[in-house]
Amino acid sequence: MKKLIALMIMLFISPPPASASNDVVLSKFAENVATHVLLHELAHALIREFDLPVLGNEEVMADNFATFYTRKFDSTKAKEIVQDRALSWLLESKQAGLRDRDLQGEYPLDRRRAFRSLCHFYGSDPEDNHDFMELFRFSQSEAGKCQTTSPEVERSWRRTLSPLWMPEGMLSREVNVIYGEGPMKKAMMKNGLLERIAIFASRFDWHSQITLNFDHCDQEAEWRRNSHTILLCDDYVSRFLEQGSKSE
Ligand SMILES: [Zn+2]
Repeated sequence: MKKLIALMIMLFISPPPASASNDVVLSKFAENVATHVLLHELAHALIREFDLPVLGNEEVMADNFATFYTRKFDSTKAKEIVQDRALSWLLESKQAGLRDRDLQGEYPLDRRRAFRSLCHFYGSDPEDNHDFMELFRFSQSEAGKCQTTSPEVERSWRRTLSPLWMPEGMLSREVNVIYGEGPMKKAMMKNGLLERIAIFASRFDWHSQITLNFDHCDQEAEWRRNSHTILLCDDYVSRFLEQGSKSE
C-alpha cells in the first residue's frame, strides 16, 4: 500500500523520474509490469497459434486476457500486477502527451488501457477489489458497469480457451526460454519471470514450439509469428524500472 501511495503521488503531483539504470535487480514494480506484458503477448500467441476468432480489436483482447489470467498465473500477486500495469500506463500517458499517431494505431490510449484493466479486474471480483475503484476515482455508475461487463468478457475467454488446456497436472514440452546477451540478462535470469511464464504457457496444448525470448533490443515486446517467439526487449523493462524507481 505504501508503494501504491508513493506511485499515486508521483503520478498526480511529481514530475516523471529522469534516469534509468541498467545493472540492477529487477524491482517488484518492473516484474509486475513485465508479467502483464508477457501475458498480453501470450494472448497474441494463443490467438494466432490456435486460430482463435478475432471479433474486435486484438490488442484489447490481449489486454483482457492478461488482466483476467493474472489470477491463474499467480493468484497471490494478481492484484499487484494489474495495479502496477495500470500505473505504468498512466505514467506513460502522462509523459508522452497525446499525439495523432496514438489515435491512428490499433492500441487504445494508455489511460484507457489502464482504466479498462482495472475495471475488468475489479468487475470479475468486486468484493476483493473495491479499493481499486476508490483509488483510481471510478464513478459508482462506471464501477457498476464493470461488474456487468467483466464477467461476460471473462466467460468468453474461459469458453474459448477451454479446449486448449493440457490435461490436469500435465505440461506441454513445446515452450522454451532463451536469453540474448545484454546488461540485464543476469537480473532477468535471477528473477526467473520468463521461466514462470513458460510454465504457465506450458499448460496449453501447443502444436508447435513456442519460445520466450528476453533480448538486448530497443523495441518493446511482441509476438513474432514466423518464429513463434514472444520477444521482450530489455529497453522496455528498463522503462518499467525507471517508472518504479521512486517507490522502491
Ligand atoms: Zn499486443
